[in-house]
Amino acid sequence: TGTGTAQIGVTGLAVMGRNLARNFARHGYTVALHNRTAARTRALVADFGHEGAFVPTETAADFVAALERPRRLLVMVKAGEPTDQVIDEFAPLLEPGDVIIDGGNAHFLDTRRREARLRERGIHFVGTGVSGGEEGALEGPSIMPGGSAESYESLGPMLEAISAKVDGEPCCTHIGPDGAGHFVKMVHNGIEYADMQLIAEAYDLLRRVGGYTPIQIAEIFRTWNTGRLDSYLIEITAEVLAHTDSTTGKPFVDIVLDQAEQKGTGRWTVQTALDLGDPVSVIAQAVFARSASGHTDLRQAYRGLDGPTAHPMATADSNAFADQVEQALYASKVIAYDQGWKMILDGSRDYDWSIDQGAVARIWRGGCIIRAAFLNRISDAYRQRPDLPSLLADPAFADEVTGAQDAWRSVVATAAASGVPAPAFSAALAYFDTLRAGRLPAALTQGQRDFFGAHTYHRTDRPGVFHTLWAEPG
Ligand code: NAP
Repeated sequence: TGTGTAQIGVTGLAVMGRNLARNFARHGYTVALHNRTAARTRALVADFGHEGAFVPTETAADFVAALERPRRLLVMVKAGEPTDQVIDEFAPLLEPGDVIIDGGNAHFLDTRRREARLRERGIHFVGTGVSGGEEGALEGPSIMPGGSAESYESLGPMLEAISAKVDGEPCCTHIGPDGAGHFVKMVHNGIEYADMQLIAEAYDLLRRVGGYTPIQIAEIFRTWNTGRLDSYLIEITAEVLAHTDSTTGKPFVDIVLDQAEQKGTGRWTVQTALDLGDPVSVIAQAVFARSASGHTDLRQAYRGLDGPTAHPMATADSNAFADQVEQALYASKVIAYDQGWKMILDGSRDYDWSIDQGAVARIWRGGCIIRAAFLNRISDAYRQRPDLPSLLADPAFADEVTGAQDAWRSVVATAAASGVPAPAFSAALAYFDTLRAGRLPAALTQGQRDFFGAHTYHRTDRPGVFHTLWAEPG
């Protein structure tokens, strides 16, 4: 086989692969195309062939032959088993120095396994997080490539070219070796779950306690979107809340079944956090809130049990309440992001990835689902202090969160008193108070452990390991 002319090949031409292929072509690259079902390849060329230079192929051999060397092959197929099948199909046709990029939502441990296997054969495997959905893939996503530094030399400029740009900077950087890119993408999605849940709780409180209608809440969110909460998620939330169902004339949000689904990256974040020992409580509450919503059997058993009923407040009070909810939302958001960044720090340390945390903030400023003005702030905090141990160690964030706390406490207390669930707001506040406390009841936990299991304890007044000879009660 001779050497082809395509600078990149995309296999897997569903919504994501198709739009990434178009994005590369629009940036002047020649793109080889392949899909298990050839009809998709033909449809892409028929619909969008005029946008750039495409080389459609139908067999694996033709696809590989269409690529210039070293070959760059982007796999955009269904995550899991299909990814392994596609790698097994193409790897035997490749040569040392070639690069396979997996842009699917792979688990970072799968990426580590695949990278190690292909590295033995001299093939670079670049597990890459891609965020921004279908539209981002076409217009400029946030891209989180892992893999070898060498692979980034040839691949990086192309990925940077098609990524979103903020202040002229690409939303793409080399995250670190092997699974680092997919790990960071996973944490991105965990933070996304937390952010969405916090916004949902704010809406629920504004509606059931504040007495606002969905349309009015959409207006409140639009106002918030001009301030420190300015973000894609707040923006689309306002759109969803302002939407009226055309068949019933009711607010759209009232005709949607209230059972949230999940594809798994939020769950992976929490599972991984448990392994790393990271208390990502806000992210965990967001994942649990989705699963609780789907337990119709439990909801049936609890429904109607006695408890407070939320009574919407008078308009004068609701304006002040809305302001408090904004503060609670902002403070909780800082905590959720802080938990995510701490997890990246610990993952980087455990897996020896040397992830630049400030760079992660920079590439999430645009293209991805959690894009927000707020990410500029995080990026600035790391610019000032690259080894920042926590966002709350940054004086500006610390001031904002401590300044918001009266309102934050009041909102959490009101939620509890009104019987409106606010698990993520509450978890964020509890996390803040846990880490702020001079003494924690962990001392008592240690006493209990020593009592029943002779697990020993440390003392505050002298070094060493201690065990007390406890008398059994009664
Ligand atoms: P998808 O529905 O996840 O996957 C469909 C594609 O995978 C089709 O091209 C299909 O080929 C191919 N495929 C499935 N099983 C295969 C197998 N055994 N061998 C070869 N090809 C196989 O498509 P998507 O929504 O575009 O997502 C692609 C990847 O990007 C996924 O890993 C997804 O998690 C990730 N991702 C998606 C989004 C999003 O917003 N959708 C965002 C970021 C990342 P056929 O046409 O032959 O069926």
